[in-house]
Amino acid sequence: MSDSCVFCRIVDGDLPSRTVYEDDDVLAFLDANPLAPGHTLVVPKAHHRRLRELSEEESAALFAAVHELMEPIEAAVDADGSNVGINDGPAAGQEVPHLHVHVVPRFRDDGGRPIHAVAGEVPDLADDELDEIAAAIGET
Ligand code: AMP
Ligand code: ZN
Repeated sequence: MSDSCVFCRIVDGDLPSRTVYEDDDVLAFLDANPLAPGHTLVVPKAHHRRLRELSEEESAALFAAVHELMEPIEAAVDADGSNVGINDGPAAGQEVPHLHVHVVPRFRDDGGRPIHAVAGEVPDLADDELDEIAAAIGET
């Protein structure tokens, strides 16, 4: 728990939120600046910045809650789909340093773009570079 962390303060009830789900490990509430109706943040109750910092159990609980929430979120706003994503680290656009999964409902012809739109300049990687990257990930 971090006193200065806005999501820890929400978890502790010190700041208000429109909570839509809670269990022992996870809280979910509406984003205060929604990108779409139903835009929901799903957060571990424990303070962690990055996904890699969660224990296997915390990670399982977080994604189980996301899984459970997909249908009720979409049904509540009559969405046709959703983008689910994490800004994992400042380089990826993370502003609140308490890990959170964004669930952004999407609607046919809403003018939005797929998650591929997060990329900056798209690299043109040769086959051997792709092979090296795959091997490096596999070895880590
Ligand atoms: P990120 O860039 O992934 O760190 O996004 C942080 C998200 O938290 C943004 O979408 C904000 O609108 C949202 N947010 C910040 N403060 C609050 C708050 N007090 N209650 C609900 N959502 C918040
Ligand atoms: Zn926190």
